[in-house]
Amino acid sequence: MQSERTTEQWRALDAAHHLHPFTDTESLNQQGARVITKADGVFLWDSDGNKILDGMAGLWCVNIGYGRKDLSEVARRQMDELAYYNTFFKTTHPAVVELSHLLSQVAPEGFSHIFYTNSGSESVDTMIRMVRRYWDVKGKPGKKTLIGRWNGYHGSTIGGASLGGMSYMHEQGDLPIPGIVHVEQPWWYRYGQGMSPEEFGVVAARWVEEKILEVGPDKVAAFVGEPIQGAGGVIIPPSTYWPEVERICRRYDVLLVADEVICGFGRTGEWFGHQLFGFHPDLFTAAKGLSSGYLPIGAVFVGDKVAQGLAEGGDFNHGFTYSGHPVAAAVAHANVKALRDEGIIDRVKHDTGPYMQQRWREAFGGFAHVDDVRGVGLIQAFTLVKDKATHELFPNWGEVGTICRDIFFRHNLIMRACGDHMVAAPPLVISKAEIDQLIDTAVQCVTECEAVLHQRGLV
Ligand SMILES: *Cc1c(COP(=O)(O)O)cnc(C)c1O
Repeated sequence: MQSERTTEQWRALDAAHHLHPFTDTESLNQQGARVITKADGVFLWDSDGNKILDGMAGLWCVNIGYGRKDLSEVARRQMDELAYYNTFFKTTHPAVVELSHLLSQVAPEGFSHIFYTNSGSESVDTMIRMVRRYWDVKGKPGKKTLIGRWNGYHGSTIGGASLGGMSYMHEQGDLPIPGIVHVEQPWWYRYGQGMSPEEFGVVAARWVEEKILEVGPDKVAAFVGEPIQGAGGVIIPPSTYWPEVERICRRYDVLLVADEVICGFGRTGEWFGHQLFGFHPDLFTAAKGLSSGYLPIGAVFVGDKVAQGLAEGGDFNHGFTYSGHPVAAAVAHANVKALRDEGIIDRVKHDTGPYMQQRWREAFGGFAHVDDVRGVGLIQAFTLVKDKATHELFPNWGEVGTICRDIFFRHNLIMRACGDHMVAAPPLVISKAEIDQLIDTAVQCVTECEAVLHQRGLV
């Protein structure tokens, strides 16, 4: 379109006119943004011609990898045929019908209804309105409070940011909104000292029970959590956590909601993260991998009990102009079908996932300041720590992570720092040779990072 421009010109125009998400504008504009111009498979290219290994699948979303011509062909055909129509007024269209049918097949039993949004945040906000509406219909209008977790991430809208537990987001705009409370996250490394992970999982689940009792079971609508916290730094709860949380939710008649925006669509080697942990949510939210990021679309999978409850209530006064957008729906359908029919998720579970996990643990286990080396499927992390023996973290949380992340950038490997957790979540189509490349580069970078920490007197 404007390919005659130089990197410098793009940077200057970007700085002049574009406000970036989650960004300190002034500091970005001094450095200049990196300009990404094309992508294929697991690789990106920038405007200077650098080839970059995308160890984060964009923002945890490009599960199927970049450059799938079949998806762009589906989009083009759908645009020609029916570029847009709404689904509000007793109307539907083939693209959204086909997607819904397919999603009900790949979802676990009991999830035969899907509500569409345009993003993860909108899915979370939709879910909040749904659970509150559900309890209204059920004659328990007092049940309105949702319980989220500190360091959980549920998006950036007012509802999603409130339910999430990122205090740096709460600080901006007087969040959380009323009716949302938080419990501590199931982070064994930090909070489980002296306990086995299994013991700690039960303790962390009991924090949910304590909160339900504190608020009052007659006031609590739902507990919401990511099966594995993504943006919070890949916090993988002990195996005992989710089953105990489920038991507690059932006991107090509290709806259980999984936010599957990252875990969904194969990231863990299962279709959905809750299947990995063996629990049964009443609803779950999705986005990201649903279309592999090719177009914006999100969804709320509504379990039969809640779907029936909502139906009893007549109109549910909620929806988006683009709910079930035909082009996004057609592309999501092609994406999900390919994830299934090409065996991509199976490969993560049985082949590339186990390979990644084994290599990851071998590669990072030996560093002096790397600990809690962890992962499942194609989502993995480690934490940069001051002292492995005592589990002491660095005092200025995020400082060392940022140093490390910048070194990765310079080596043309994208990994993310979530505080001092270093995270990788590559496209699910990554090959073993590309996994080797990712890990070999990352090892070089961490070696360099530890040297920098010594130089700067941080260790
Ligand atoms: C990314 C994310 C969201 C928000 O999705 P957006 O599409 O950015 O609005 C919500 N929940 C989880 C778990 C996420 O990772």
